[in-house]
Amino acid sequence: MTVNSDTQRRQARLSWIFVGLLFVLCGALGLLQYRWIGEVSVAARDRMRASLQAGLERVSRDFQSEINTACRAIAPEDPKPEPAEFAAQVGERYAAWKAAGQAVQLVRGVGVVTREGDRLVLRLPDADGKFLPAAWPAEWKGTQQFLEGVILREDRGARGGGPPPDESTTFEVPVFIMPGPPGFGPGPGRGGFGDRGGPRRGSAWMVFDLNRKYVMESALPELLQRHLGAAASQEYLFAVTLHEAPSQMLYTSDPGPASSVAANADAEVDLLAIPPDMLRPRGRGGRGFGPDGFRMTGGGRWELWVRHRAGSLETVVERTRQRNLAVTGGVLLLILASAAALIRFSRRAQRLAELQMNFVAGVSHELRTPLTVINTAAYNLQSSVNRSPEQVAKYGALIRQESGRLKEMVEQVLSFAGSQAGSITRDVQPLAIEDIIEASLESSRTVIEGAHFAVEKEVAPDLPLIAGDARALQHAIQNLLTNAVKYGKGERNWIGIRARLDPDGSQPRIEIRVADRGPGIPADEQRQIFDPFYRGKRAVQDQIHGTGLGLTLVKEIVLAHRGAIAVHSQPEKGTEFVLRLPVAPKEFQDEFANSASRG
Ligand code: ADP
Repeated sequence: MTVNSDTQRRQARLSWIFVGLLFVLCGALGLLQYRWIGEVSVAARDRMRASLQAGLERVSRDFQSEINTACRAIAPEDPKPEPAEFAAQVGERYAAWKAAGQAVQLVRGVGVVTREGDRLVLRLPDADGKFLPAAWPAEWKGTQQFLEGVILREDRGARGGGPPPDESTTFEVPVFIMPGPPGFGPGPGRGGFGDRGGPRRGSAWMVFDLNRKYVMESALPELLQRHLGAAASQEYLFAVTLHEAPSQMLYTSDPGPASSVAANADAEVDLLAIPPDMLRPRGRGGRGFGPDGFRMTGGGRWELWVRHRAGSLETVVERTRQRNLAVTGGVLLLILASAAALIRFSRRAQRLAELQMNFVAGVSHELRTPLTVINTAAYNLQSSVNRSPEQVAKYGALIRQESGRLKEMVEQVLSFAGSQAGSITRDVQPLAIEDIIEASLESSRTVIEGAHFAVEKEVAPDLPLIAGDARALQHAIQNLLTNAVKYGKGERNWIGIRARLDPDGSQPRIEIRVADRGPGIPADEQRQIFDPFYRGKRAVQDQIHGTGLGLTLVKEIVLAHRGAIAVHSQPEKGTEFVLRLPVAPKEFQDEFANSASRG
């Protein structure tokens, strides 16, 4: 070992401290981020709600302004006190307004109601646009009841009070009632709308029959789009209800679930307020609708409710919050995973560097030993002291043996370099596995016999061919045989080599097993023995020659043939390497059989 164990321990401790710090930092960041995202979400929700509310206020303002414009256009500026004259004035202005074509769709019709004695007289335009007394249309029933209720109440009030009229009868939906303008009144005691003589009741009303379909389906959606953005209808549900009876739905943008819009609304605004300057008697404050005591609770007869389609703004914000949290969590996890991967890779790189250093040290030693032997033998041969034929033969054999070891080592290193460059298989041909095994045994014969190993070979007959590089495969099997000799010494020096058709494989493969009855490979080493330059503890301790590249090359060669390799080893029972190589495609086999029969 060139890297001392203290340095290694220090490095390991440092990397664990780093990982720990990273975990703590990521945890703290995650916590902070969680809290910030929560705060940002609350702020975002408040902002969205405020902006929605502001948008609705603008919608209400614009809608009101359209209605006010229409009311002002039709209401006479200098009203005549006589009901018929007043109605004629309204008629003229209504005709002029229609002719000007301004927002005509907004109002379906206009009526004038005057109090004449104890009666309410309704005047509606005839075919020529003249406002003449007419019967109350059926759909204005509620308005009629409302106005009559007011008068009745007034009369009752004059006689000492009484219950207010039933408000539920007043909810005539499409009809917008505007009290008569200031200055109108049939004479003393029945003065105009509070302009003279103190708080008197009005006695004329203009009735605007709003075009509800147009208002709900065109005017309002257009205003919503203008003030809440182009995607308003895709984002929000809308509903319009009567102010006094929110359960009475006048309009919903979507049927079904939209009916609950009013119950869970994100924002709400009043619509259809009476123009304040026309509504409020001079000299008096407060809001009211028509006569005293009949006040509206809000600023308008209608209420517009808006709810986000997701359920509520809270839900939208909560979803965004969860998405943000998920992204943040993902990023933190990614950072941790990257750090873990980085540490893993750097440790592997460090281990590889250590192995390479060990390899250099080991190879230098491995090279020096045979070179020293060769050098000494050559020196002895050269000196004339001892030149008996036996001695010459002995030195010659020594030189051959040691140069053979050198050659083997150099070949192993060169093959490894070739495998890294991707040129481990060069000449792929149809091969009979028995030939490969035979050639491997032959080239390992000296080593096997020198160590007094018995070989038991068992090759199934008629095995299909494989497509492969004969030299590479022979090299692989030879490495396994040499390893069995080097590390498989036991009570019985035995090597078993078997080949058969793989019984388990889903695809046809040939299985080659090389086994020994040696001391086996410790379980913790089994994962590493295929790593380049790795040498087992026992190999190092017992100074068994090797480079740590033999099994790496076997693995590379098998993988280059699209095969698989496994090791089974039990302490004191022995080791078995199993190679599985796919058989050559059928056309390959047929072609070979034909050429063999021709040959
Ligand atoms: P080398 O033989 O040069 O050390 P290898 O890559 O061939 O390199 O083998 C790696 C390690 O695997 C060896 O150092 C040894 O510890 C272990 N090993 C290989 N074959 C056997 C075997 N048949 N029995 C026990 N250990 C083995």
